[in-house]
Amino acid sequence: MKKVINNGNKLKGDILEKYPTKVARKRSKSFVVNDPDNPPEIQANVRTVPGILTQRGCCYAGCKGVVLGPTRDIINLTHGPIGCGFYSWLTRRNQTRTGPEDDNYMTYCFSTDMQDENIVFGGEKKLRQAIQEAYDLFHPKAIAIFSTCPVGLIGDDVHAISREMKEKLGINVFGFSCEGYKGVSQSAGHHIANNQIFKHVVGQNNEEVEGKFKINLLGEYNIGGDSFVIENLLERCGITLVSTYSGNSTIDQFEQSHMADLNCIMCHRSINYVADMMETKFGIPWIKVNFIGADATAKSLRKIAQYFDDKKLMAKVEKVIEEEMVAVEQTIKEVKPRLEGKKVMLFVGGSRAHHYQYLFSEVGMVTVAAGYEFAHRDDYEGRKVLPYIKVDADSRNIEELTVEPDPERYRPRKTEEELKQLEKKGFTLRDYEGMIPEMESGSLVIDDISQYETEVLIEKYKPAVFCAGIKEKYIIQKMGVPLKQLHSYDYGGPFAGFIGAINFFKDIDRMVNTRVWALVKAPWSEEGVEDNCLIDADYVSEVA
Ligand code: SF4
Repeated sequence: MKKVINNGNKLKGDILEKYPTKVARKRSKSFVVNDPDNPPEIQANVRTVPGILTQRGCCYAGCKGVVLGPTRDIINLTHGPIGCGFYSWLTRRNQTRTGPEDDNYMTYCFSTDMQDENIVFGGEKKLRQAIQEAYDLFHPKAIAIFSTCPVGLIGDDVHAISREMKEKLGINVFGFSCEGYKGVSQSAGHHIANNQIFKHVVGQNNEEVEGKFKINLLGEYNIGGDSFVIENLLERCGITLVSTYSGNSTIDQFEQSHMADLNCIMCHRSINYVADMMETKFGIPWIKVNFIGADATAKSLRKIAQYFDDKKLMAKVEKVIEEEMVAVEQTIKEVKPRLEGKKVMLFVGGSRAHHYQYLFSEVGMVTVAAGYEFAHRDDYEGRKVLPYIKVDADSRNIEELTVEPDPERYRPRKTEEELKQLEKKGFTLRDYEGMIPEMESGSLVIDDISQYETEVLIEKYKPAVFCAGIKEKYIIQKMGVPLKQLHSYDYGGPFAGFIGAINFFKDIDRMVNTRVWALVKAPWSEEGVEDNCLIDADYVSEVA
């Protein structure tokens, strides 16, 4: 039975009507009613209208917090006022697993703590001192320097200081021009982070990595222990994980990551740049995978095995899937009667709002509205639109690296003929179809949703659960709707792989079916949402 979500156009009109004409015109392009057979064009990666409450983070947050944050043995030093550093400290519940000898700086917050006089007279001296102090105290393998807004405004040269200190200390020191205002969202920060890691770290160690099937996992940040689950599955299948960007990672792993034979992308938006550059420079093909959802995990493992085209590997993968699916199916049987048909809204991240729809659909829950905080058009519509995306002034702000095949280390992992054979069997390389084609007809797809739009959607659709981040959490819960944080998982997780799917189903069952929501007096109802959260509202119908 296919769900068709009705009245999207009317609801969109009702919401936009409240905005001033110019704002309504702009928001209208980022707010589309889905037609999977004829995917609509969506406006994404544009500036938020000033004054509108957005879910987004800043460029610095994307660079320091998202991409570099989960790497345990790099000292991440924020050059700026302590506020920026404090809010990027441990806010994502990234986890890591150290050996007895390993360094782990993830629990610390390093900042130059700029004061007024540094803003007036410059902060370079303070930065030099801070790098020296961090080195003297911890003797790390690498120090990364992150620029915040004031640094860009006063013009401190973090790159020159990094070069100077690298020379002086004899360790890798590199900087990021990731001032908060550099892009329209954290997406710019991901791009800047990846460029610098590629320039300063990848390929620094050419030592062979043992293993027959070697992969990197890109865009997986080990929130709530997701990477641990994936690592365990890969190990049981006999697949060697050279590096994860950047969950549970170390600088040594990044340095050797060019020795892998396949790159697997989880979060397309935050990291597609690394995959493309590694393919051009070293000859490593990439595929899109998803380890959120039991079926999606099974598909991804099979896809990796198919790439390596090895019968023993395929058999091992099938065995692991078979073993794991017993418990998954049992849990689905238990919770599905209580969850089936209930409505979900997801406004989070730059792939998560897509990936988590698989999990919900496995227990029969329907996503009526979804969108991203920092996606670009291709994350919604698929990579086929890449040639048509216009580069605007904000994107031009970000350095584009020109990458060429490495004269000594470029080694195509498969011949053209082998790649063609794979594609003939329906194998998709270097592709991501995006979120829109997989969403229900009539569902709403909204880029950079505002708080006002969120509140109206909740009032009209009365979802059983809303997925977003901490900024939205308490406002939405006060409306009588449970909110599942998918940036940090609250206290739950891991949610990746088969065991993660089980954890998620149990969590959602508990959240959605607790009677406490019926006690919350939402602004539009004295009864709460308990009776309204099934798919029977005016806005949804079913067709065969
Ligand atoms: S926008 Fe600027 S000032 Fe605000 S957190 Fe980001 S870097 Fe810091």
